[in-house]
Amino acid sequence: MPDPGPVTCAGCALLCDDVTIEPSGDGVRLEPPCPLGAQWFSERARRPASAPAATIRGQAAGVEAALNRAAELLRGARRPLIYGFDGATVEDARAAVALADRLGALVVPGGLAGAWPGAPALPLRGASSATLGEIRDRSQVVVIWREDPLTSHPRLLERLGFVDGSADGSPRRAWRGTRTLVVLDDRDTATAARADLRLRWARERDLEALTCLRAMQRGVAARSSDLGDALGGLLERLGEVPHAAFVYGPALSSGAGGQRRALALHELVRALCGDRHVVTLALPSAAGATGAEDVLTWQTGYCGSVDLAGGHPELVTATRPLMADEGVDVSLCIEGGLSPAPAGVAEIALGSLPARGDAEVSIHTAAAGVEATGTAHRLDGVPLALQAPLARDAPSAAALLARLLAEIER
Ligand code: SF4
Repeated sequence: MPDPGPVTCAGCALLCDDVTIEPSGDGVRLEPPCPLGAQWFSERARRPASAPAATIRGQAAGVEAALNRAAELLRGARRPLIYGFDGATVEDARAAVALADRLGALVVPGGLAGAWPGAPALPLRGASSATLGEIRDRSQVVVIWREDPLTSHPRLLERLGFVDGSADGSPRRAWRGTRTLVVLDDRDTATAARADLRLRWARERDLEALTCLRAMQRGVAARSSDLGDALGGLLERLGEVPHAAFVYGPALSSGAGGQRRALALHELVRALCGDRHVVTLALPSAAGATGAEDVLTWQTGYCGSVDLAGGHPELVTATRPLMADEGVDVSLCIEGGLSPAPAGVAEIALGSLPARGDAEVSIHTAAAGVEATGTAHRLDGVPLALQAPLARDAPSAAALLARLLAEIER
């Protein structure tokens, strides 16, 4: 493997851009070490040269024939769905939104079977946000709300200045100084083990806790007596510092009531900002998620799920999973895991990892960050270049989507 110098890892939404890779066994090793990143690179580096470039109903096919079949399906679609984006670049997402606009498609980044959109918190309330650097340099209290970034985003605590970058990840108190890491979780996670202050209550009580915090911040006594002490202690810590951050993710904002909980968090943060600076940092579950949301925002005005069926963008809101009610007949998955689809839906997959065997059409793409270059947005919105340390000549999803659009418009 040629030495590509430092590259950007897209193994998670943190997009560490100081990574060097070297062969190790049948995979790769990363420096600084990160097991998740090593697994991500290794999975994409291992693709056998004999794997077909495309399949139609599970049978090997040429890319041209597969594109023609995909175009035929999309041209005849009554209710097309475009989803995925886990490993998509900004270029992929732009091409996908252009195609969705032409088709009048429903765009759901997480897929129909994922967390349903509720009344999306960000478009309704906006968010107080910050870069990783601002949180590292200014937040004296960082509250991690029911996430375990040491597992899902392994270098986050290092990037926020709570642990050093050494191989054993040992705490470096001098850097950490008097900063406080608060972890709310009723599970014993790796991140919780690093906390200076632990809070525990069941996930079902998150909305109650957030509304109580808001009430206590307004000077109204909390009704929930058993959470009162813990919440009072947290408010006290927050009240002692001029800058604090809340780190949250799908454990707060997904599933039943998820967007209500997210709204409550953003309401609380906005209220706390009256006399100090408080910010939020969302932990997306995939490296392509922030870029896809940013592209949707630029091109449709909405982040999250957008319906273009009416000839103009509409923000999708729903209080239950979308899958059953949308009447989707053709779905196009871009650089993501194929969701289970209702019976009768023809599936098209453009991805760098093997698609499920029952996809009607599947076309292999070059993995951005390993086999192809591209642009990705870090979880705090900072754009970063992805390199191609193992460049191969498979097409990118963006190139395939542009060809699909041209074929459909012909
Ligand atoms: S923390 Fe995430 S982006 Fe950074 S090296 Fe590990 S997997 Fe890659």
